[in-house]
Amino acid sequence: MTTDPPDTQQHTCLDPVETGALTVADARRQILSLIQPLPDREQVSLKEGLDRVLGEDLHAPFNIPPWDNSAMDGYAVRSADLPASGRRQLTLIGTAMAGSPFHGHVAPGQCVRIMTGGVIPRGCDTVIMQEQVTRENDMVTVNEGHEAGRHVRRAGEDIAEGQRVFNAGRRLSAADIGLLASLGIERVSVRRRPRVAFFSTGDELRALGDTLDEGAIYDSNRYVLYGVLRRIGVELVEMDIVRDKREALHTALMQASSQADLVITSGGASVGDADFVRDGLASLGELQFWKVGVKPGRPLAFGRIGDAWFFGLPGNPVSTMVTYYQFVQPALRRLEGEDAPPPLQFKVTCVTALQKAPGRMEFQRGILEFNAAGETVVRTTGGQNSNLLSSMSKANCFIVLPAEWGDVPAGSLVEVQPFVGL
Ligand code: AMP
Ligand code: MG
Repeated sequence: MTTDPPDTQQHTCLDPVETGALTVADARRQILSLIQPLPDREQVSLKEGLDRVLGEDLHAPFNIPPWDNSAMDGYAVRSADLPASGRRQLTLIGTAMAGSPFHGHVAPGQCVRIMTGGVIPRGCDTVIMQEQVTRENDMVTVNEGHEAGRHVRRAGEDIAEGQRVFNAGRRLSAADIGLLASLGIERVSVRRRPRVAFFSTGDELRALGDTLDEGAIYDSNRYVLYGVLRRIGVELVEMDIVRDKREALHTALMQASSQADLVITSGGASVGDADFVRDGLASLGELQFWKVGVKPGRPLAFGRIGDAWFFGLPGNPVSTMVTYYQFVQPALRRLEGEDAPPPLQFKVTCVTALQKAPGRMEFQRGILEFNAAGETVVRTTGGQNSNLLSSMSKANCFIVLPAEWGDVPAGSLVEVQPFVGL
């Protein structure tokens, strides 16, 4: 059955604000208050730590940079030698290259040739850019107007010894592993990746390579879920399509929940005759909730089977994606112990009109772009029916419309959630 737009369906309910439906915020709160991080941690090499969630706080064993060093190619001088007016000649006594320090002490009236990254020699505290001096053999002439301490990168100015560099719960980025490398940290403790089992349900679904008989469609949700789950880096347990038979579904749910920390199904979560997911969850485990005031996305079942968390997502591919991003992804982050900030969301002008009925919070698909004046604006991807997967393909953001809003005239300010890293 088609679940969106349900406001036009006849067989159940419902006024637009469905009785018993949770708000998006309440559903998310329930999910996040129930799910606790998996306790297991493992030690991995720094490279393997990319995109993993840190299992411990990390502190700096030493300063970064470790030594005062030059930010420029030029001459290291003593600031006391800088002329307040006129010029001053200094004697060049050596060279400090990056990786080859000058080991002597620089006395008054002396200077050292220095390259970017070279350690500031003892006695010096300032670097003059090479373009700003004149040099004849070992005599270097410096003019007035230089500031003491210029062009020196101070030891510890990026990170001070002992400082907490990252908190447990941080998902390590490319910059993060680079920073840890600068601290000489070779191995990190990370949280175990959650194992996620997923399968699609529906008599109409066919695997790629099978022929499509009348009424059949290919199982696109398998690919959607594979894609989003691969991106977040969980371990996948990919299962076969399950037919709309009570027994088959129960067997698959038991199998999935015995192998995984979290189970995701798509389809069959509704109130149609062939929708057994909710029933399966209620008889094999615990159904936490199944009605959320979200569009697309109703219905969405959340609960637990054995030791596994369970999400029954609606079958329409856009509904599958929206509910994944809004509910399952935060749950997976929580399960992996990630201390994730809420998704980036900000207001921009919507240059197209949007259709909406009051009642449910909507996540419409939008395209963020620059207008002729160079301002960031958003426009709709067009048709918003939840079977139109192309609307997700075109989109680079969700346009988040509060439950109580009706139609949105062009030119309105709307909230958007850009797809960052999705
Ligand atoms: P359901 O949630 O099972 O009532 O399905 C709602 C709609 O989504 C129906 O039109 C289904 O054919 C479609 N659908 C369900 N599962 C999938 C899937 N895995 N891939 C593509 N479309 C699906
Ligand atoms: Mg179905």
